[in-house]
Amino acid sequence: MLTSNRMNNLHPYVPGEQPKDRVYIKLNANENPYAPCKAVQDAVIDFVQNNPMKMTVYPDPDSNELHAAIADMLNKTGGVLCRAKVDGDKVEPASEDKIPFTVTPDMIYSGNGSDEVLSFVFYAFFDSSKKFVMPEFTYSFYPVYAGFYNIPMDNVPLKADWSLDKEEMLKRAANNKGGIIFANPNAPTGLGLKRTEVREMLKQASDDEIFIVDEAYCDFGGESCIPLLAEFKNLVIVRTFSKSVCSAGMRLGYIVASPELVNIVTTVKNSVNHFPIDAVAQVAGTVACKNPAYYCDCASKVAEERDKFYEFLKEQGFYVIKSETNFLFAKKDGVDGNELYKKIKSEGILIRHFSTPGIEDFVRITVGTPEQMAALKEAFLKVM
Ligand SMILES: *Cc1c(COP(=O)(O)O)cnc(C)c1O
Repeated sequence: MLTSNRMNNLHPYVPGEQPKDRVYIKLNANENPYAPCKAVQDAVIDFVQNNPMKMTVYPDPDSNELHAAIADMLNKTGGVLCRAKVDGDKVEPASEDKIPFTVTPDMIYSGNGSDEVLSFVFYAFFDSSKKFVMPEFTYSFYPVYAGFYNIPMDNVPLKADWSLDKEEMLKRAANNKGGIIFANPNAPTGLGLKRTEVREMLKQASDDEIFIVDEAYCDFGGESCIPLLAEFKNLVIVRTFSKSVCSAGMRLGYIVASPELVNIVTTVKNSVNHFPIDAVAQVAGTVACKNPAYYCDCASKVAEERDKFYEFLKEQGFYVIKSETNFLFAKKDGVDGNELYKKIKSEGILIRHFSTPGIEDFVRITVGTPEQMAALKEAFLKVM
């Protein structure tokens, strides 16, 4: 055998398709339909054109400027872009989202997309001798890392209304003593827990075991758990620039946690690749964080289109889960999810279908621009 035994545990993630044969409207990977702001575009051009020598040297290993900018954006938005109050360039959190302390740069660790960040978090906090708890239907990269690091998992079924079963997750976590992870709002369902609900969970969970909340979609209308960091030292929050900061192509994700936990994840990173995200992404990410008003506007537009398309799907007789994210998860009696996906694709629009048993009737639709959603409406009306 050429390969190690470890290879048998690898079941790589299958990303949403990125076809090159035809130009599709892409509503299948929860990417943002809007470009990064002009200041980010200018900063990248300036970096390459006017500072080419910066390409020859290693990037700042601590990403200091970027982490300061991320912390500042979180303080200004409360971690929920679509609800933040914008007045010209001035941004402040909605009153319910205000973080009751100042997020500081030493509470941020960043990496090449939250997928890489998650892999280091799994390595740092989950153990191959103890099962960690996660929802049965959630971000499908978690089981991939469980296989990669040989960590046993305990999948907790969702409730009949597709929400997380908090009680059962806590019960199993108390038995396993191996920590908890879930996405909030969850994917691919789109449903979130309130901060008070997560707080109750944290109060009941052991403070000796890690509690990870993946907030990839929080900016589109969830409730951030960042305020809970003041109370709970076992809490790690994972976030990304890919969805709400219009930058999936750049690969930039981060955690918000206590400086102690940030140092632990940094130790893992320094044992794999001692440099952080590249210098261009550091610049682009920093400038993006300095322009929160633009991204608040993008997130609000997406949330508005989402709620409109939710109503449309309901009118068409679909069962649609109320979403706090930039996607909708929907199914209809008598309609095969895979067939629907294929028919919509033949109309030039990509949506996502998962063949996973239990959710195979659903399609997941990423919310795009008003024009894209109008085209999708047409396609639905034609194929249904
Ligand atoms: C998209 C997504 C990620 C990964 O984001 P990247 O930063 O692009 O790697 C992580 N968690 C959830 C729940 C996601 O949907």
